[in-house]
Amino acid sequence: MSDVRNVIIIGSGPAGYTAALYTARASLKPLVFEGAVTAGGALMNTTEVENFPGFQEGIMGPELMDNMRAQAERFGAELVPDDIVSVDLTGEIKTVTDTAGTVHKAKAVIVATGSQHRKLGLPNEDALSGRGVSWCATCDGFFFKDQDIAVIGGGDTAMEEATFLSRFAKSVTIVHRRDTLRASKAMQERAFADPKIKFVWDSEVAEIQGDPKLAGLKLRNLKTGELSDLAVTGLFIAIGHDPRTELFKGQLDLDEEGYLKVAAPSTRTNVTGVFAAGDVVDHTYRQAITAAGTGCSSALDAERYLAALA
Ligand code: FAD
Repeated sequence: MSDVRNVIIIGSGPAGYTAALYTARASLKPLVFEGAVTAGGALMNTTEVENFPGFQEGIMGPELMDNMRAQAERFGAELVPDDIVSVDLTGEIKTVTDTAGTVHKAKAVIVATGSQHRKLGLPNEDALSGRGVSWCATCDGFFFKDQDIAVIGGGDTAMEEATFLSRFAKSVTIVHRRDTLRASKAMQERAFADPKIKFVWDSEVAEIQGDPKLAGLKLRNLKTGELSDLAVTGLFIAIGHDPRTELFKGQLDLDEEGYLKVAAPSTRTNVTGVFAAGDVVDHTYRQAITAAGTGCSSALDAERYLAALA
């Protein structure tokens, strides 16, 4: 059993690194797979983070993640910048396989693979991320005080983002592909009643304009094909998230939207010895601090599980 680790962590966002820090400090010598391309998680793609407690002046996303990484490493977490491509979690000893085909074994596994926000798929979208284009009103709304903002989408998230943003913004324009909303009745009514919110129906974004910052959108009416300009300095894309759970299908219970199910408030999945934390579980909050919080919980749950095995 010498090659069997106590715990393997899959994922390297705030959830994964926090789980790594706690399990390392508990002398469990965690092995962390950080991901090949996206080590550090979602905050590696953003600029200023102003709402992570402890940083009075804010901190750049990549710097925050480098700090978390270094803190976990300081206590002995072993960090590997590689993807896990397959897993077998069912037995008492779990196995995970990396891209080179090497099989790693552990008594406990923490899944912290995060979720991916859906993109519009337009050329300027990534280049202007953090420069006017955002996927998170709670994170970035404050930067758009007294500005004209567009929100893309027609579901609950889009309505929630729009009503939240209308507190700061001069105006919020919701652009939706259809002429009716998917959002719940209550959310719709709140948006319709808000004097700062306008709607552009049956339309999609044809072009995101601006260099080096967002300056406006070109919209296309899907019924008439007509193009129009919308002058905005903020664009919030709220068309959904895809949790990264492909690897776990058939082994761990997922909900109807593909998120991992846990026995909340614990981080236990349906498989003994497998825990999950962060945005791969979380439909609701999707914040760095909440991911770090459940990352901590998953480490404590794993620690107790391992102690009971001994
Ligand atoms: P993630 O940060 O998504 O990390 C998961 C990581 O797991 C992936 O990046 C990848 O490296 C790894 N991974 C995935 N699959 C595998 C695999 N098969 N093998 C190995 N590794 C794998 N929140 C805030 O609180 N404040 C903000 O200001 C803020 N700004 C944001 C700005 C942007 C542009 C975005 C996209 C998000 C922002 N958020 C912000 C939200 C925050 O980033 C997320 O809530 C948080 O990062 C979720 O953490 P996580 O650890 O669950 O997942």
